[in-house]
Amino acid sequence: MKYRSIAVALGFHDSIVTRSRLCPVTLETIGQRFWSFVQKSDQCWLWSGHRHKSGYGMFTPVKHYTLWAHRASYELSHGNINSRLCVLHECDVPLCVRPDHLWQGTRADNTKDMRAKGRANGGRSYGVTNHRAVLTEDLARLARYMVQEQHYTIRHTATVLGATYNAIHAVVTGRTWTHVRPSTHATGTT
Ligand SMILES: [Zn+2]
Repeated sequence: MKYRSIAVALGFHDSIVTRSRLCPVTLETIGQRFWSFVQKSDQCWLWSGHRHKSGYGMFTPVKHYTLWAHRASYELSHGNINSRLCVLHECDVPLCVRPDHLWQGTRADNTKDMRAKGRANGGRSYGVTNHRAVLTEDLARLARYMVQEQHYTIRHTATVLGATYNAIHAVVTGRTWTHVRPSTHATGTT
């Protein structure tokens, strides 16, 4: 079937194509647009498109319809999301849209997950407001690489990585993540 082959070619789950009323050409454009905003790496795949102030990516597939980028990614790759479930990040990086870093869970799972990762302390340290929570070791290394070797500004780096200015500043000046050694090659082997 034509729809099916397009779905496979675009890396979509079949169901999103078969239940969609959009024509294949439109879907193809949407898929290309979606992945054009994604910076893939060995670790997280970061969303470089529009970002909500909560730290999560946002994607507008068709006019007047915006959805969370990680939910869009999950749906494109795994099919329908149960409307009562949340899409959670295994990696704890809000901007990450890598399909195998995402899983479906209940709100209770979400809260449990937040507690386990130290994000639920009186609501103070949720998501991007806590630089320790949001910067994984991988991102800390990437932040140093971007600022120190590629000479991006701290502000730009913070925006791209979905972190606060202070978080990146702290990493670059060595106040946090001091055990992470600066890497001289972004794609080097570890
Ligand atoms: Zn990830």
